[in-house]
Amino acid sequence: MILNGDRGDANGPTALDVALQQMNEAADLIGLDESTRKMLSKPKRTLSVSVPVRMDDGTVEVFDGYRVQHSLARGPAKGGIRFHPEVTMDEVIALAMWMTWKCAVVDIPYGGAKGGIVVDPRKLSIGEIERMTRRFTSEISIIIGPDEDIPAPDVNTNPQIMSWIMDTYSMERGYSIPAVVTGKPVEIGGSKGRADATSRGCVFTIADLASRIDMQLEGTTVAVQGYGNVGSNAAIMLEEMGCKVVAVSDVEGGIYNSRGLAARSVADTVDEAGSVVHYPDAERCTNAEVLTMDVDILVPAALENQITSSNAPYVQAKIIAEGANGPLTPEADVILRDRGCIVIPDILANAGGVTVSYFEWVQGIQSLAWTAEQVRRELKRRMDAAFDAVYGWAQEEGTDLRTAAYVIALQRVARAITLRGLYP
Ligand code: GLU
Repeated sequence: MILNGDRGDANGPTALDVALQQMNEAADLIGLDESTRKMLSKPKRTLSVSVPVRMDDGTVEVFDGYRVQHSLARGPAKGGIRFHPEVTMDEVIALAMWMTWKCAVVDIPYGGAKGGIVVDPRKLSIGEIERMTRRFTSEISIIIGPDEDIPAPDVNTNPQIMSWIMDTYSMERGYSIPAVVTGKPVEIGGSKGRADATSRGCVFTIADLASRIDMQLEGTTVAVQGYGNVGSNAAIMLEEMGCKVVAVSDVEGGIYNSRGLAARSVADTVDEAGSVVHYPDAERCTNAEVLTMDVDILVPAALENQITSSNAPYVQAKIIAEGANGPLTPEADVILRDRGCIVIPDILANAGGVTVSYFEWVQGIQSLAWTAEQVRRELKRRMDAAFDAVYGWAQEEGTDLRTAAYVIALQRVARAITLRGLYP
């Protein structure tokens, strides 16, 4: 089992090492000036909070929480909040940095942020999760807001938790402020199409790439690591497009069926029994095996540092679409490139979520609801435009897609910094 957060290999790089290396390689390539590089190497603002929570048994537990704003150069900070036992400040900084590039790649007017609480939510009751979420929101309310920093769902957080964030922030100010958070339920100002937007965007990029390299998606085999919101919806959508999903996994392990799994039934099994491993019509395999399965397309949709120099030589997929943030290390990138595997990088492949978050925020500010069709059309337009720009640059310069995406993002962020100038 290698679902181990940002630790990766025992001596491997952390998520922050990876994020900085990726940025520096792109910065070298475009000859980014030293002062901009120095500024972007550090988060603009970090907040570390203690979150005391009254537990169901009457005792008080204190959780560590973080909110990081990496850059505000292109607009308010934007990014999710995760609940995970291996969250660290460095991990949250890396994730905030990736949000800066992601928002720039799809050209939405945001900087990057991220938040997290060090907790295993599976060990908490629903009431405890609500109280922890509300107190965390109150603690970080000094830096979040619809014009400042807008949280959203991430690993182990969902629309219900976004509702509590919205409500807590609104209660403290005395009126409803829906645009303080995205990924809310539709009934209280969420956007249609937000719940599966990350997966939809990911599938758009896979389809875009497939058409460029003349690959038919019909009958193509797929493996998905992680069966949360991103992984499960990606599997369901790829199956709808004619792909055969043969292997999937989650924290408890993997399942495999060469004839294909029924992606939606697997999701139902997760809802009912808590894990993909309880799906009856499949053989068991490990999480590690899912990554090296003989498939055409691999979607790592779990955590960082899952494909490293140790397992990259055994990866057989022709295409990897990074549903998760930071699932590949730079060493793995090099190995896979040499093996002819095309990687659609996280800052492009999973940007559909934050793109529809942007639509939700715009709808919230205007008190106006878009139709599902409008959301889907606008998401496709933006994802296709971003894919075209990235793929085009990579073709022209002979680079991989990650390098191209980073160059485009870095140039946009650097331009904003130059135009705004250095205060005071
Ligand atoms: N957590 C998601 C991500 O990593 C979505 C962030 C957002 O919608 O703000 O992209």
